Amino acid sequence: MRFKQDFFEQLDGFYSQVYPQGIQNPQWLGWSDDAAKLIGLGKPNNDLLMQLSANAAAPGASYYAQVYSGHQFGGYTPRLGDGRSIILGEAIGPNGAWDVALKGGGPTPYSRQGDGRAVMRSAVREFLVSEALAALSVPTTRALAVIGSDLPVWRESQETAAITVRLAKSHIRFGHFEYFCYSERGAPDKLTQLLNFTIAQHFPHLTADAAGYKQWFVEVVQSTAKMIAHWQAVGFAHGVMNTDNMSILGDTFDFGPFAFLDTFNESFICNHSDHEGRYAFGQQPGVGLWNLKRLAQALTPIIPSDDLIAALNTYQPSLVSEYVNLMRAKLGFGAASCQDRETQAELDKQDLQLISQFTVLLENSQLDYSNSLRKMGQIDISSQHSPLRDDMLNVSEFDSWYQAYQARVGNVADVTVWQQQRNQHNPKYVLRNYLAQEAIIDIEEKGDNSKLLQLQQLLTRPFDEQPQMNDLAKRPPDWGQGLIMSCSS
Ligand code: AMP
Ligand code: MG
Repeated sequence: MRFKQDFFEQLDGFYSQVYPQGIQNPQWLGWSDDAAKLIGLGKPNNDLLMQLSANAAAPGASYYAQVYSGHQFGGYTPRLGDGRSIILGEAIGPNGAWDVALKGGGPTPYSRQGDGRAVMRSAVREFLVSEALAALSVPTTRALAVIGSDLPVWRESQETAAITVRLAKSHIRFGHFEYFCYSERGAPDKLTQLLNFTIAQHFPHLTADAAGYKQWFVEVVQSTAKMIAHWQAVGFAHGVMNTDNMSILGDTFDFGPFAFLDTFNESFICNHSDHEGRYAFGQQPGVGLWNLKRLAQALTPIIPSDDLIAALNTYQPSLVSEYVNLMRAKLGFGAASCQDRETQAELDKQDLQLISQFTVLLENSQLDYSNSLRKMGQIDISSQHSPLRDDMLNVSEFDSWYQAYQARVGNVADVTVWQQQRNQHNPKYVLRNYLAQEAIIDIEEKGDNSKLLQLQQLLTRPFDEQPQMNDLAKRPPDWGQGLIMSCSS
């Protein structure tokens, strides 16, 4: 790893320097070749194992924990910060730099009552989902590796500690801006310093002046909207959309009790602690906007509120247009693009209606989200009946929807090509909670990571048939239905 230290060198006062503490008897549980390439690494080796398990210093690393705050479940917490993630610096790769962080690397000044550790099950889940989302083209932070150990940690019972090696283009969160607005009052200079740094590093096409700030916030709003459109299209529930878990770059960030939908259900809550369903699957688009408003408020000392409001107003149309485009590709509608904005909005509205009717049909019949879409992509579009018809409870409702759907898809020149295209947009395999759970249990009980490796392989090619793996595309068995994870991680 070859590091630069821009955050560390330019943002004194925005972090605490802290050294990670090694985990004993470290072993690779998982390694991502794809993530490794991003920072110019090849295969794992023992030196890297020692460095990334914090048992040896990484040459060129600076080791620091960032300070930030955030709105958690609607309430403001004045100081959070990296309680168990220690950043080594920005590793230089062939196409840009990536922060390297040891999540679970030991206590920091921000750990509060926590031990600074991550349990193996949560580290494995973060590793798998980061790489699975990337393979689905969902904007996300990445995971280079997950490292297991013998170090005991206490949650509800004794477990072992692990480290996820996270790669992020930036670790700057909405909560960073909130901290330097509210918690370090009287320091608008710091807010400006943070914004100028963010722009210089990650929005180099913008200038650090009023016009640049205005456009910057538009881009933050729109990348957040696009990220959430991706979540809704692949059926991903994040589970803890607190503003400290929202990346300023619109990357999916800080994984906890996330889930991919099995049965389609707008009200699905994946977080055991989310009693009111604040972060239920269908709430995510609204929460994205709520979070952006909290960010906007924190920016009012340095950006005029009219500019902030104008940017926020682009959220909903951006999200809808991205979502509709993603769903068009899944359902095979063909692109609908037109020069005239009003006509475009009308087309989007009509398609959105057809898409929503489809998800309501799935919900009413308790059907699996990913598998139903995959099945829809295999139909002979000219035939009267879709194979999904037999799965429906209300067949006549489905029939009338299907007629409208056929009319929208129109003539398909080559059905085989059409089906192949659908398969490139509808994954056969997603990281269902029960699959992750089976891999975790094998590591816990037998020290065997082969299921984890198999799952990782599978999910890096989620659109391929991989017929020998058919079982892993199935809906969960009874014990794994609607698995809800606790926040304890
Ligand atoms: P999260 O829900 O993972 O986003 O965490 C919320 C906050 O709690 C962040 O500031 C974390 O750094 C901190 N935190 C979570 N788990 C631990 C832990 N085991 N030790 C110390 N801090 C933690
Ligand atoms: Mg967090």
